[in-house]
Amino acid sequence: MLTDDQLLRYHRQILLPTWDIAAQSQIASASVLVVGLGGLGCPLAQQLTLAGIGRLLLADFDRVELSNLQRQMLHHDADIGRFKVESARDSLLALRADVVIDILPERMDEARLMQALASVDAVADCCDNFATRELINRCAWALKKPVISAAAIAWQGQLSVFDATQAESACYRCLYPESDDAALTCNDNGVMTTTVAVMGSWQAQEVLKVLTKTGESLCGQLLLWDGRVNEVRRVRTPRDPACPVCSNQGD
Ligand SMILES: [Zn+2]
Repeated sequence: MLTDDQLLRYHRQILLPTWDIAAQSQIASASVLVVGLGGLGCPLAQQLTLAGIGRLLLADFDRVELSNLQRQMLHHDADIGRFKVESARDSLLALRADVVIDILPERMDEARLMQALASVDAVADCCDNFATRELINRCAWALKKPVISAAAIAWQGQLSVFDATQAESACYRCLYPESDDAALTCNDNGVMTTTVAVMGSWQAQEVLKVLTKTGESLCGQLLLWDGRVNEVRRVRTPRDPACPVCSNQGD
């Protein structure tokens, strides 16, 4: 049940025939794990907080650096040297006092990740390296928690949803086999301020849709966006029958 304050606060969203009070109530009691509080995780956590999410579990062991401040809008000048999850928590609570923020300022290993995933409804993969993405994929698939995964580099972004409960869903490993370890990084290649803001917000939108089963998610598809020339493409992502994570071989 929403309070009178909540009904007023989220009035413009509740007005939507495709959203309504039921959806607002669903996200008010929903919990999302955010892995990575950098370029994608900051706008994602900000948008989910504004939209009315109940709880965020923020995981990142990095500390704020000067070179983060060009794009990671939850961290401020005075936060340099602090854990990103701590400065992000402070910024989110300043936006909305009643959002529940739990933090994990530590490197995720399998045991910690499984524990974190057990307490949430979905996970937003906002991290910047293949090893962590692969770990999130494997653990979330095992626990049947939907993964909303985004990536951004230079002017380009990618977005997809991997959901073990959906028959048509591929997993992250189907798209990016192990050999793809030399992925491009923002450290080496740069990224526009606006690219991560767009992609993190787009990713937050998919989280809200998945939690409430609103509209059509990107499950089974990969969205590719090139902001420099305003091109958006969607490609189908079939499940790889030989995938070691999501295929039924050996079951
Ligand atoms: Zn797979």
